[in-house]
Amino acid sequence: MSIVKSKIRTIPDYPRKGILFRDITSLLLDPEGLALTIGTFVDRYTGKGITKVAGIEARGFIIGAPLAFQLGVGFIPIRKKGKLPSETVSQEYDLEYGKDVIEIHKDSVFPGDRILLMDDLIATGGTMIAAVQLLQKLGAEVPEVGVIIDLPDLGGATKLNKDLGVNVFSICEFEGH
Ligand code: AMP
Repeated sequence: MSIVKSKIRTIPDYPRKGILFRDITSLLLDPEGLALTIGTFVDRYTGKGITKVAGIEARGFIIGAPLAFQLGVGFIPIRKKGKLPSETVSQEYDLEYGKDVIEIHKDSVFPGDRILLMDDLIATGGTMIAAVQLLQKLGAEVPEVGVIIDLPDLGGATKLNKDLGVNVFSICEFEGH
C-alpha cells in the first residue's frame, strides 16, 4: 500500500556499504502509518482460524504482538539462541557470513495450531524459512507469513512458496537489495 510505503525511510549504506536499509521506525512513529499497518493485517487474518501469532526477534515482535491482541489469540516470540528460559527447539540457518540459530519454547506450539508468522521484512528468506521449520517441527500448520516489506529481487518470498508451500503476504515491495 502506497501510504505505508511512503512512510518507510531508506538509509543508504547501513549496516554496510551498498545496503539500502528499509527503516520502519519512521512508519511506527507515525500514528496513521502504524494503524494502517496493523489494520491491514487484522483485516486480512480476522476469521481465518488463526490460533496463534509468532514473531521473529526483534521487529517481528512489534507488529506480531498487537496483531495477536486484535485477533484475540496468543503471541509466540521466536528468539536468538540462548534468550528463552525454558525448554527450546532450535533451527540453524545461513547468514551471508556464517550461521545463526533461532529458538522457540517447545510448549508454545501444539499439533493442530494454525500459526501466522510475522516479521518486518523478507529479503533472502533465510530467517523466515528457519522460523517456519521450527513451527512445523512442533506440528503447527503455517498457512501464511506476513511482512510489511518484500524485497522481491532477493527471491525470499518465491523460495518460501516453492520450498515450503507457504504463501508470503506483504504490504509493499521495494526494488533492489
Ligand atoms: P533474510 O533472512 O535475508 O530474509 O533477512 C531478513 C531479516 O533481515 C529481517 O528480519 C530484516 O529485518 C533484515 N533485513 C534484511 N535486509 C534488510 C534491508 N534491506 N533493510 C532492512 N532490514 C533488512
